Amino acid sequence: MARLIDGKRIAAEVRTEIAAETAAFKDKHGFAPGLTVIIVGEDPASQVYVRNKKRACEEVGFNSRVIEMPESTTEAELLAQIDALVKDDAVHGILVQLPVPKHISEEAVLRAIPPHKDVDAFHAENVGRIMTGNFDYLPCTPAGVMELLRHENVDPAGKECVVVGRSNIVGKPMAMLLLHANGTVTVTHSRTKNLAEVTRRADILVVAIGKPEFITGDMIKEGAVVIDVGMNRKADGKLCGDVDFATAEPKASAITPVPGGVGPMTITMLLRNTLTAAETYAHRTGK
Ligand code: NDP
Repeated sequence: MARLIDGKRIAAEVRTEIAAETAAFKDKHGFAPGLTVIIVGEDPASQVYVRNKKRACEEVGFNSRVIEMPESTTEAELLAQIDALVKDDAVHGILVQLPVPKHISEEAVLRAIPPHKDVDAFHAENVGRIMTGNFDYLPCTPAGVMELLRHENVDPAGKECVVVGRSNIVGKPMAMLLLHANGTVTVTHSRTKNLAEVTRRADILVVAIGKPEFITGDMIKEGAVVIDVGMNRKADGKLCGDVDFATAEPKASAITPVPGGVGPMTITMLLRNTLTAAETYAHRTGK
């Protein structure tokens, strides 16, 4: 039977550390780390994510603010709002909840948040710095996966690591982080031939495709560590991952559940990035 990788517990531990560091930061500098989240439109899933981010910030002692803008907001209005936050010294991290409405360019939005306030690590400069390994911020989900592996004492060095999915926010940076950790990394995607042959090579298998229970036990090597990033809602309303837990769990040596695996780590890493942003601000300004 596989060991269950308890993301909820690990996230709680890391958040306790962040809360303690935040208290020390406030004592030393006299102000709190500040994160502002902008949400445009009324997408219900985005509203839940934003509420969760605000609550998580408050729990560790950050100042957090949510700016809600209507669906009809123009790109210029959104960029002006971002610009006001860029100039606000009390705001150390800015995050625009994606997706933005179709009439707004996502690229323009991501470019408008300067790298030092880009706590999602989506700005091209921060993305580039992930390649070189000289980074301040890592994108939250892949960073959360690495933190889970660390807590579980799973060292990717020398291991066959297979990432299923190549999105800019999960698959690609995930592959890069595993490479920095000295894994032998293969990235697969929708055009990969004989996917099961590739996934069966994996000592560490990270799956992020957005297809409910797609990776089945027969695609997994005996004893593999399986990290399921997927978050899908089934017809009965229940959440499930991209991995078929029932058939994968007997093959794996360790596996993340959905929910309660990678999900709780994502916001935790956002908190970590925001604290880093505040520390960088304090260091840069001497405040
Ligand atoms: P995207 O839709 O942006 O990317 C999906 C990737 O999966 C693409 O690279 C695609 O390949 C690949 N893919 C699709 N079908 C297959 C297939 N049959 N075989 C192999 N590869 C395939 O998704 P995201 O990366 O944004 O998200 C992936 C999942 O992770 C979703 O379920 C999402 O909800 C979840 N997620 C969870 C988070 C969390 O905090 N737990 C955070 C972010 C995402 P191609 O490039 O060829 O199209």
